[in-house]
Amino acid sequence: MATKKKLTKTQLKELRAALEAERETLLAQASDLDAEADIKQWRDGGFDDDPADTGSANFERERAQSLANHARRILLQIDDALVRMDNGTYGVCERCGEQIEYPRLEVIPYATLCLEDKRRDEHGR
Ligand SMILES: [Zn+2]
Repeated sequence: MATKKKLTKTQLKELRAALEAERETLLAQASDLDAEADIKQWRDGGFDDDPADTGSANFERERAQSLANHARRILLQIDDALVRMDNGTYGVCERCGEQIEYPRLEVIPYATLCLEDKRRDEHGR
């Protein structure tokens, strides 16, 4: 099996910056979405008793909550990636132990599977 190239220090530095930037964005997004869900909840509290409006407020609240949850799941993955960076296991595929391709990490810096295993995951199971 071909050994893939290890990440260089510069690449790691760039990926860490990308992770940290993404983390900031997601934190802001999650708190905005929480605020949005809260406002919708408050409106639901009998303020507006038109059933159609209540239905759509519910829908929007659930949408905001699910987007906030999604942002939080990615935040956890980013935190994990930052921990792996500190202990030197960052960028290694969880399944095959090979180096994850740099172009893939550039797109998804918190990826835990190499391209091949990710594809296998999406097609198989
Ligand atoms: Zn792999």
